[in-house]
Amino acid sequence: RAKEIGKNTVCFYTSDINDRLVKYQQITALLRQALTNGGLELYYQPQIDLRTGGATSCEALLRCFDKASNLVSPATFIPVAEKSGLINRIGDWVIDAACKQLKAWQRTELAGVRIDVNLSGRQLTNPHLADQILETIEHYGLKPEQLGVELTENEVFGSEEDQTRQLERLKAAGLHISIDDFGTGYSSLVYLRKLPVCSIKIDRSFLHYAMENESDMAIMKAMVTVGQSLGLSILVEGVETEQQAKLIRDLGCDFAQGFLYAKPMPAKAAEAFMKPLASRS
Ligand code: C2E
Ligand code: MG
Ligand code: MG
Ligand code: MG
Repeated sequence: RAKEIGKNTVCFYTSDINDRLVKYQQITALLRQALTNGGLELYYQPQIDLRTGGATSCEALLRCFDKASNLVSPATFIPVAEKSGLINRIGDWVIDAACKQLKAWQRTELAGVRIDVNLSGRQLTNPHLADQILETIEHYGLKPEQLGVELTENEVFGSEEDQTRQLERLKAAGLHISIDDFGTGYSSLVYLRKLPVCSIKIDRSFLHYAMENESDMAIMKAMVTVGQSLGLSILVEGVETEQQAKLIRDLGCDFAQGFLYAKPMPAKAAEAFMKPLASRS
């Protein structure tokens, strides 16, 4: 009987692994196709200055469409891209697309805005990353201050010295560096002090729970205090309600991003949203 159960278990795992392998292969094929056939697009989510209500920066969030134009979520394809190594080509595409967008905005009211792109830790292992990014910025005739990069704590904290060097070079050149999903990783405040960082983006889970629970509120306050005393600007992610907006304003946070203000949108829609807000600063 035990043997039978064992057998069944093996069968179950085999088909599970199989399913996952098939899914993995489907997604890598989709990504390869999207890279060559225009199936990738950047959406933009404005970042709101809590003091002025203005918006002079936005985050680029990658979208991938399959042949039937169905949207595939980055939560699905980014981990596959990282595992397969495709993230390097995709990351290059993202940086190029963001810079191209900045150039297009150069002749509009959005001339001064900044776009922040998400980087994977794996991209930082490329010793030429900083050079490549700076070359792209120059190619499009932009200022380095117009581009920002976001990395999660786990991707930079405790990483190889070479990886930190790429970030340091970018920061020294004038790019904006943010720690994404702050608080969810193995945050060591010592690293925060050592790293070339301009701002932290507090993960939306803290905001969510801070509304309901004293200890999460305490953690949130502590993160804001530490960030501020290190001279970093504080952005809170996932702001969905006026109540949450009031809370983070009262805590002294600098920026907010979330559905309350705007969802990630295609470039044209982001442009329309940001135009009246870009000069309010
Ligand atoms: P992230 O960088 O932390 O991006 C924020 C995510 O929260 C986005 O999900 C955004 O749509 C979502 N969001 C924004 N405001 C709200 C809100 O008010 N409520 C809720 N519930 N969600 C909100 P998205 O676009 O699905 O991206 C998921 C993750 O995929 C990103 O998390 C990022 O880690 C990764 N990603 C996206 N684009 C790229 C990229 O170009 N390169 C890399 N390496 N990763 C990317
Ligand atoms: Mg991000
Ligand atoms: Mg993230
Ligand atoms: Mg985040």
